[in-house]
Amino acid sequence: MRKWECTVCGYVHEGEEPPDECPVCAADKSMFVEITEEAASSSESTATPASASKAEEKTTFLATVYHVASEQILKHHLHPIMVHTPNGILPMALIFLLITAFLGFPLFETAALYSFVFVLITMPIVVFTGYEVWQKRYRGAMTTTFKIKIGASIVTVLLLCVLSVWRIVRPDIVTTTSTGRWIFLLLSLVLVTAVGLAGHMGGKLVFGSRKN
Ligand SMILES: [Zn+2]
Repeated sequence: MRKWECTVCGYVHEGEEPPDECPVCAADKSMFVEITEEAASSSESTATPASASKAEEKTTFLATVYHVASEQILKHHLHPIMVHTPNGILPMALIFLLITAFLGFPLFETAALYSFVFVLITMPIVVFTGYEVWQKRYRGAMTTTFKIKIGASIVTVLLLCVLSVWRIVRPDIVTTTSTGRWIFLLLSLVLVTAVGLAGHMGGKLVFGSRKN
């Protein structure tokens, strides 16, 4: 049985032909390369992801800083580490909002605001590390998986801005009886769904080709 590897996400397909579309990242047939015994052993020895070609390397200070930062981001998996900020904190913030909305305890709602602002401050790092991994490891492939991840991160940043400003302008938005409260809670739910979706897609990229 011949084996084909998706050059975008690393998914391995067994069969005479590569699949029309990668089941993990939706890259098309042309992104698959056949794995031969030789290729398999040599690709294992060069496990480090493809980096920018040495010839193009500029010697300016900023370019060097960027190059070193980019290498460290991939080497130490900074994106999967950083995504725990939105994915860990925002579900908790939503639960805090619901506690205040339905049970009282206004301090929880204040904690939710701090959580929104804190996550918003960390989002540039989350997005930048994600962009670097997308460009270097997945060669900037514009597949459905990455479109969803990019869309989800745009929605996340926009909603964090809207909800933080809204809450600062209207401190009683979660406890008021107006319909604004429901829209606020609904948008918070959409926010958590967006980060969850981006995380789920990331999980599929990293773990998708594993059998267990
Ligand atoms: Zn793939």
